[in-house]
Amino acid sequence: MNGFIHSTESFGTVDGPGVRFVVFLQGCPMRCKYCHNPDTWKMNTGSLRSAQSLINEYERNRPFYRKGGITVTGGEALMQIDFVLELFTLAKARDIHTCLDTSGVTYHPGESAYNEKLDKLMEVTDLVMLDIKHIDNDDHKDLTGHENTGILAFARYLAEKDIPVWIRHVVVPGITDDPGQLTRLGEFIGGLPNVKALDVLPYHIMGVRKYQELGIPYPLEGVKPATKQQAMEAKKIILTAYWQVKRRLEKG
Ligand code: SF4
Repeated sequence: MNGFIHSTESFGTVDGPGVRFVVFLQGCPMRCKYCHNPDTWKMNTGSLRSAQSLINEYERNRPFYRKGGITVTGGEALMQIDFVLELFTLAKARDIHTCLDTSGVTYHPGESAYNEKLDKLMEVTDLVMLDIKHIDNDDHKDLTGHENTGILAFARYLAEKDIPVWIRHVVVPGITDDPGQLTRLGEFIGGLPNVKALDVLPYHIMGVRKYQELGIPYPLEGVKPATKQQAMEAKKIILTAYWQVKRRLEKG
């Protein structure tokens, strides 16, 4: 099967454990205001490549990936779930660690045909990196154009399946750094037994040039990038709430 590929990166170090072969899939239904990859939004474009050709490319550099593996990201990787399923099935047959980087936006609890595919995909997925962009539904909608109810349901689905998850949150000053909302986020992930890591990243403006090239107005014009210090403070708030919930659950 062929997939629409935006690009690949041979030696990724921030998209999962170890050094990784990172596949950026084309197409995303979200419109996050801070997205730095608007060039991945358009569906059904990019280079058409087979899952096998990506595995072959991985195999050529295999010695470099000893503690790593393959990460599929985007765009939104789950927009091409059949392709990811084939790629990860081929990868697992070769004992390659598989990581799915997703926003979870394609998940809807009632869609049985899609969810059957997702169940199969989870059988060949070692790790999910899940973005929770805003814990508040209205604010999430304002930030991304989509509700977060399906995304939070997807997080619970992963917990039920006991799939290891790394949670990611981007700190945008004045938009995703409200202490009360960060506490809510911490409380939510504190209730998930499968969370293995939390990555809190400062918002940056490195994608602005791409908007200019594409002729799209930059949605966060005038919003300053977040500092590492702001991201660290946000992480502290999330983790405080996270551990409070964990301790409460442990006590029963
Ligand atoms: S989900 Fe990712 S690729 Fe899609 S708009 Fe948001 S940040 Fe961009």
